[in-house]
Amino acid sequence: MTQPPSPIRVTVWNEFRHESKNPKVASIYPAGMHETIAAHLREMEGMRVATATLDETGHGLSEQRVNETDVLIWWGHLAHDEVADVVVERVRQRVLAGMGLIVLHSGHFAKIFKALMGTTCNLKWRDEPADREILWVTRPGHPILQGIDDHFVLPQEEMYGEYFDVPEPLETLLISSFGGGEVFRSGMTWARGAGKIFYFRPGHELYPTYHDSNVLKVIANAVRWAAPTPPPTPVGYGRREFGWTES
Ligand code: ZN
Repeated sequence: MTQPPSPIRVTVWNEFRHESKNPKVASIYPAGMHETIAAHLREMEGMRVATATLDETGHGLSEQRVNETDVLIWWGHLAHDEVADVVVERVRQRVLAGMGLIVLHSGHFAKIFKALMGTTCNLKWRDEPADREILWVTRPGHPILQGIDDHFVLPQEEMYGEYFDVPEPLETLLISSFGGGEVFRSGMTWARGAGKIFYFRPGHELYPTYHDSNVLKVIANAVRWAAPTPPPTPVGYGRREFGWTES
C-alpha cells in the first residue's frame, strides 16, 4: 500500500501595511493580500496553508515555522528594512536546504531576494495609475504555466521595466509589455542550493491583481513546482574512505 503524499506546507508572508493605511487597498483586500492568496491555495488539493506578517513576533517566521515550511510566498514593499537580518538569514539557510521561495511584485527589493540574488535587483518604474499589462508566455508547457494560454491581460497594473538587475535566470517564463512600450521579464526562476526560486511580477496593491484567475493559477502552479522533492540529503565535505589502495 502506498502512503498518500504529504501536503505541501505553504506559508504566505505579507508585510501587511498598505491594507491598514490605505482604504482603497483595504477595500480590495479586506483581510490582507496574504489572506486572499492563502484562501485560493486552501482550495487546492495537497496544500496546507498558513500565513505570517511583519508585525507578528519574529515576523511570524520563527525557526519552527520556517523549518516546517516547504514553500514560502513573499510580498513586501514599504518596510523591507524592518525585516530583521536574523530572520532573513534563517529563511536564506532554509532555501539553500530546499525550501521553495516565491517572490511577488515589490518583493524584488526584499532583503531575502537581494541576499539570494546577490545583485541590486533594481528596475525601472513609472508612477502612473492603472497601466495595462500583457503577460506573454515564453516557456509554453512549463509546470508553472499549466492552464495558461499564450498570454493574459491585467487591465490595471503598475509598470515595471527593464533593465531588471538580477542574475541571468534559469528560465524566463513570462515577458510583460506595458502601455508605454516597456517590457519586463515578469516570471523567472533560479536555483540556490537545493531551493527553487520564482519571481512573479504582478501584484501592485492598488489593483485587484490577486483576485485574477490567471495570476492565482500561476501562483498555485509555482507552489507545486517549488516544493522540495524528497527531503534534501545533507551535503558536506567530510572525510571519505575510497575503495582502492596504492599499490
Ligand atoms: Zn507596486
